[in-house]
Amino acid sequence: MPSNFSLKSTPINDPRPSGFRPRRSPRLACHIPIRVFGKNQEGRTFYEDSSTLVIAREGGLIRLAQTPAPNLHIYIHCHPTNQGGRFRVVGEYSSSKSLHRYWGVELLKPGENLWGVEFPELSEEDGRAVRVVLACPNCRRRERTFMDEAQIEFLHERGGVIRECPTCKVSALWKEVPYFEEA
Ligand SMILES: [Zn+2]
Repeated sequence: MPSNFSLKSTPINDPRPSGFRPRRSPRLACHIPIRVFGKNQEGRTFYEDSSTLVIAREGGLIRLAQTPAPNLHIYIHCHPTNQGGRFRVVGEYSSSKSLHRYWGVELLKPGENLWGVEFPELSEEDGRAVRVVLACPNCRRRERTFMDEAQIEFLHERGGVIRECPTCKVSALWKEVPYFEEA
């Protein structure tokens, strides 16, 4: 984890040592529109239209301007699958360059396929990084790579990353495409 990326708050009401829960699927960079329902720190109920930044089979990293109340669960409705589930908020994540606030969340009932995504098998490469698929806007060449959360934030907030394409030799803004479309 780079030095400009830190876990701001400690896990909320979590007696388990960090990293105790085994990671059961690779993490994928994926922009999925969601609606989040919860209670904020003042005890007021809120809903917020948002999106995921990273998904895993049983959790993810979501953008959320609200501060969810500690110890309460949030409900996330996933628009593409029209399904929802209750999540525990693990903590707030943001890098020093963040334009938005991001929160780590864990699904309370493992086994639900809320995101509607077939996750690939976990490989050694997954480690602490997130799988990303980028596409050249000129020739559509696709490349699978690994990034950390701060790099993915950067990618989302700027709409892509400038790269020179090995195929068409054009420097252009490569954009993220959903991981599962590549497979
Ligand atoms: Zn190209």
